[in-house]
Amino acid sequence: MPRIAILPGTVADQIAAGEVVERPASVVKELIENSLDAGATSIDVTIEDGGRASIRVSDDGSGMERSDAVLALERHATSKIRTAEELVGVTSFGFRGEALPAICSVAELTIETSAGEEGTMVRAEAGRVLEVGEVARRRGTTVTVARLFHAVPARRKFLRSARSEWRAISETLTTVALVRRDIRLHATHDGRAALSLAPSNSLRARAGALWGNRYAESLVDVEDVAGAVHVSGLVERPADVGTATRRVLICVNGRPVRDAGMVRAAELAYKSTIPSGVRPSLFLDLVVPAGEVDVNVHPAKSEVRFRDRWNTERAVERAVRRALGTFDSAAAMGASGWSFTPSPVVQSQPVDVEVLSGTSGPADPLFLEASGAAAVAGSGAEEREAVSVPELVQLRRTYLMFEHEDGVVLIDQHSAHERVLYERFMHDLDAGISPSQRLLFPMTLHLGPAESDAFEEHRDLFERLGFEIEGFGGHTLLIRSVPMPHPRFDAERCLRDTLDALTGDRHVSSAARHERLAATVACKAAVKAGDKLSIGEMRALFTSLAATTLPAHDVHGRSTIVRLSWQELERRFGRA
Ligand code: ADP
Ligand code: MG
Repeated sequence: MPRIAILPGTVADQIAAGEVVERPASVVKELIENSLDAGATSIDVTIEDGGRASIRVSDDGSGMERSDAVLALERHATSKIRTAEELVGVTSFGFRGEALPAICSVAELTIETSAGEEGTMVRAEAGRVLEVGEVARRRGTTVTVARLFHAVPARRKFLRSARSEWRAISETLTTVALVRRDIRLHATHDGRAALSLAPSNSLRARAGALWGNRYAESLVDVEDVAGAVHVSGLVERPADVGTATRRVLICVNGRPVRDAGMVRAAELAYKSTIPSGVRPSLFLDLVVPAGEVDVNVHPAKSEVRFRDRWNTERAVERAVRRALGTFDSAAAMGASGWSFTPSPVVQSQPVDVEVLSGTSGPADPLFLEASGAAAVAGSGAEEREAVSVPELVQLRRTYLMFEHEDGVVLIDQHSAHERVLYERFMHDLDAGISPSQRLLFPMTLHLGPAESDAFEEHRDLFERLGFEIEGFGGHTLLIRSVPMPHPRFDAERCLRDTLDALTGDRHVSSAARHERLAATVACKAAVKAGDKLSIGEMRALFTSLAATTLPAHDVHGRSTIVRLSWQELERRFGRA
């Protein structure tokens, strides 16, 4: 007796439905995507009992002719592609012709549609068309899905409470709203309005409509092109990470996808700006050439495959890192109100770094090397003039304050210097050379056994940072040269403190060792709160901070810059 048989269509459809229709939210997603594919500009979603009783999606799209409305329920019936070649660069959400038959196989489905003239009603259940009739309707389509899984007890069992199904549906609606800012989207749940969005012209405006303008304005713009990859969107300021619900949206060529790799790449950009363990909110749109991405790798099309994943991830990381490097990413006090165009400082006095170092005398300019290096790294005169330094005031021997077009800005001198030195040390560790100063009298240092071990472990890195050290028998070191981050630098104290901090720090990857050492030495070597800075030193610190890649964030996940907008100040004084 033959053991193999072709499954009846209804069974095959139910199996396929398992992949496409997981829960009410997936029905909502498929129906809305069909509406968008039909060119809808306005979509109404009506949900009863978390979608378990009914789901209705109504649009003003192209509608369907009668014969198409019946055919749409057949498996692999699609109007969106005709050949496999067309899969490359397919821009519609759908193309597999699976959603409607899959939904119909596990629910009661009614389509009311009109392409402009007489309207059609198709009623079907468990994969069978029960009725085709006429209906009065303006152009567009309404699909109603009732009693999902009622005839499939095995699936019905997996439905969660109305509340939790509704939560999944609202996540789906939120995603659609963020991806397609151009459409009007209305939703009700059990008769109550749940979402009411007018078309908006930007991601920020949509985010504002969803979660309030205050939240939307706290996000930083991402906008970068690397090769053929265009990355844009909004990300959370490091100072805000962990303070609000984490939200993530990754879109590839207009399609929302789940992509842990891209999320990780974006998160890498936050490295050294936030403590490990907290994760930022990200809203990123990637646009890549059609041939670079395969969209047909997942039944619900929620994953894509990249031809060159590594470079795409690097493009994402770089784009986010650049966004975090802007002044706009600095922490704000109160509601923002900061203009989003990175505007230059007012009352600026262009400063030439060389002049600065020349006039300040050899011992004065704290940050001589760092700022000098920035100038040298640049391409000459214009580069040197690019940073204009505002009038700076030191407060409490801890903060530098200055006035900006949009408000008052405070810089934490220690954090800022730490950021400057961290980036310099990371560079030195990579380059393997760093300026150092030979001591007239070598310094001896007696270490305990644990400190000795820590030294041996990191010896090569210390040398690359500019320490020239000889073992002098037992636990004694002879130090001949030291790095010169600034004239007040206490090399002995820094070395001791660093070794102390590194004690027991074994078996970490070499990249992590680099970072750890650079961060530790930077912390120990930076000027402290309480150090009085001269005007020249403040200006040099400002200049070198501006030359770092992430000026607004220190290396421990805190802010180096805090801004208080005029708007916020005026609100507090009751002027606005
Ligand atoms: P796919 O979207 O992959 O083509 P579906 O099963 O979701 O497959 O839909 C089948 C076809 O039905 C679509 O290709 C489209 O032609 C038509 N259709 C479905 N929903 C709508 C709608 N809201 N408006 C107009 N046409 C629709
Ligand atoms: Mg579809």
